Amino acid sequence: SFKKSLGQNFLTDVNVLKKIVNAAQVDENDDVIEIGPGIGALTEQIAKKAHSVLALELDDRLIPVLSETLAPYDNIQVLRQDVLKADLKDLLARHFDGQHQVKVVANLPYYITSPIILHLLETGIHFEAIVVMMQREVAERLGARPGTKAYGSLTVRVQYQMNVQVAFIVPKTVFVPQPKVDSAIVVLDPKEVQVLPQNEQLFFKVVRGCFQHRRKNIWNNLLAFLGKQTVDKEKLQRVLAELNISPKERAENLAINDFIHLTNKIIDFNIIEK
Ligand code: SAM
Repeated sequence: SFKKSLGQNFLTDVNVLKKIVNAAQVDENDDVIEIGPGIGALTEQIAKKAHSVLALELDDRLIPVLSETLAPYDNIQVLRQDVLKADLKDLLARHFDGQHQVKVVANLPYYITSPIILHLLETGIHFEAIVVMMQREVAERLGARPGTKAYGSLTVRVQYQMNVQVAFIVPKTVFVPQPKVDSAIVVLDPKEVQVLPQNEQLFFKVVRGCFQHRRKNIWNNLLAFLGKQTVDKEKLQRVLAELNISPKERAENLAINDFIHLTNKIIDFNIIEK
C-alpha cells in the first residue's frame, strides 16, 4: 500500500529513470545522495553509474524491501532517515570517502519539495549538481525569469546560488499511483556568485519581504517589512534612488542582483543594523 501522506508516487518507466541519471551526468567520480528511494528503481539506475549511492528513506516499511532489491549492489547504502532532519554534512563525512564529487539525484516527495531544496542549499555542501523530479508548477517557479508570474522569492532564493534548468517534463501517467499533475526534472548546478550580500540572512529576509504582497509595490512592501512607524523614509527613498529602482516597481521585475544591492544599501544607510 502507498502512503499518500509521504508523497509516494513511484516511477515505473525505466526510460525516465535513465533520463534522470543522464541529466545528472552521473559517473564513477560521483558519490550520490538519493532522497526517498521508495522501492529502489531509481537507486538501481544511479548505482550502475556512480561510485556510490547513499539513499535516505523515511518510510521504515520500505527498508527491508530496499535491502532485498538492492542486495546485488555493493555501492549502495540505505538509511532510514528523514532528510529534513538530517545533518547532511555529518552523513557525508560518515558514509562517503571525501574523494568524489557529491551530487543529489531524486524523485522528490512533492509535499516537501521546497523545504528539501532549501535544506540542501543551506548545508553549505558543494553539490556538483542537484537533479530532482518535482511538480511541474514548482519546477517552473524555480526556473522563472524576472517579469513573469512564476518568478518569486523561491526563484530568487534558489537562483542566487544555483543555475536552474528545467530539463524535461514528465507526464503523470508514468507514476504509480498516478498523481494529479505533471512533473519535471530540474537540474541545478552551482553558480559563481559575483555580488555578495553583506548579510545573507538579511538578503533572504529582504527578498521575502519584497514579495510579501505580490500586488503591492516595492515601497509598500519595504515599509511593511522594515516597520512603517519606525523606518527612516527619507533614507529609504535615497536607497532606491541610488539603485535606480522606482518605489512603484514590483518585486517580480527586480533581478537577483537588485535584491543584493538593495540589501547592501539598507545596511550601508544604517536602515537596519548589520
Ligand atoms: N524514488 C522512488 C521512485 O522514483 O519511484 C520514490 C519517489 S516518491 C515520489 C518519494 C519518496 O520519498 C517516497 O519513498 C517517500 O516515502 C519518501 N519520503 C517522503 N518524505 C521523506 C523524508 N522527509 N525524508 C526521506 N524520504 C522521504
